[in-house]
Amino acid sequence: MTCKLMDASWSTRKLAQFPEDLVLTISNYIMYGLSCTQAKLHGLPKLGKLFPHADIYRWLSYGNDGKHPACDHSYFGRREFSFTLENDIYVRFQSFNNAVDMENSIREKCPYKIDIGPVYSVDPAKRHAYAQSGNNVFAPVERELIFDIDMSDYDDVRYCCSGADVCLNCWPLMTISVKVLDTALRDDFGFNHILWVYSGRRGVHCWVCDGRARRLSNEQRAAIADYFRVYKGGENNAKKVNLTGPVLHPFLARSYTDVLKGFFEGKLLASQNLFASIERFQKILEIIPDESIASELLDKWQGNRRSSISKEDVNVVRWEQLKHVLQSGKQKAQGLRRCVEEIIFTYTYPRLDMEVSKHMNHLLKAPFCVHPKTGRVCVPIDPNNCDNFDPTTVPTLSQLLEELNMSSMRTESEDEWERTSLGKSIKFFRSSFLSPLLKSCKEEMESVYNSKVKQSKNALNW
Ligand SMILES: [Zn+2]
Repeated sequence: MTCKLMDASWSTRKLAQFPEDLVLTISNYIMYGLSCTQAKLHGLPKLGKLFPHADIYRWLSYGNDGKHPACDHSYFGRREFSFTLENDIYVRFQSFNNAVDMENSIREKCPYKIDIGPVYSVDPAKRHAYAQSGNNVFAPVERELIFDIDMSDYDDVRYCCSGADVCLNCWPLMTISVKVLDTALRDDFGFNHILWVYSGRRGVHCWVCDGRARRLSNEQRAAIADYFRVYKGGENNAKKVNLTGPVLHPFLARSYTDVLKGFFEGKLLASQNLFASIERFQKILEIIPDESIASELLDKWQGNRRSSISKEDVNVVRWEQLKHVLQSGKQKAQGLRRCVEEIIFTYTYPRLDMEVSKHMNHLLKAPFCVHPKTGRVCVPIDPNNCDNFDPTTVPTLSQLLEELNMSSMRTESEDEWERTSLGKSIKFFRSSFLSPLLKSCKEEMESVYNSKVKQSKNALNW
């Protein structure tokens, strides 16, 4: 069953008269403000603010927007934003002094997409002027540690969809990636302020926002990315995962026991019919380094195709047979036992776009953007409740439009999103991510300031 995430309601009565590209333009305009001439021209109703500019500003200020003497008021203004405008015009190195500045620019330029880059040593919009003055090196100095996982990287292990499509059979591959990474980032690295965001179509983004994470060098980022790396094989190499050493690294062992094994055996085997056809089980057999075992299983499964009338799921039966052969006492000594784990890792372990995580200056789409192809809003995902996240029910712009229309007669409030199905996403963003983050920013600022004051007092005492 392929359940594509295209938004069928684009063609609602109100929007039906517009050519598709114009609808997309308008929808993004509306998302980011109400001053769009075209939207007005076509009689679209007043839609209010749906993009939480103020929240994004508070987040990316990390407490520097306050009155504390330790605040760095240049901080937000040194952050790069980049806009994708109509006709794929890409405008980099945008910067803003405050939330109003950002909101006005977004309203004026009406970007299809907003990406967030690093915080630089100087205001990125004025980088040339600084370069001429000579003594300021323009370089990134801070950046959230980010991860990007894209479903199209799983095309060799999913059979329900491919490319940009996702459905509820393959989406759980993203869910378990969130679980594996989130646990490791918290338990192994001690990070606390982690934001997971649906990319609007086929993947997830992760923003690690602790001060310690933002100040990591490129080398340190590469080391963290490497910690998560298990894929060593090439594109045409069946054996993509090489788990070496006598025992699994504790992180991999925990991911395997707590998440991957149960998911593979309880869900993926059947949902992707991994052993249902020769093409599919052959791919799994190729991972087994011992050719005689692989051909033994191949003969067995090719020979008894008829046995699929049995009540038991053919995928489960064959998987158990494979495990039995590989894990029997005779094979154990030959090191084939690890092969079961390698198969599971190959099919389930998170596939990260490593380059995104390694470099400070990589851009990443801002949360709460609208995906131009699906119309879906890039909403946060609760890692503690990610099993229940369903990409097919994420609010679309046209749905939000209708919701606003329905209620616009009744109330006029500043936070118009509260009346839409985006409400719970913004509330979650504020309560689970933003509030605890800003609280710890304040504490960090306070303690750094106090120790500086103490130091200078000590210096005076000398
Ligand atoms: Zn699918």
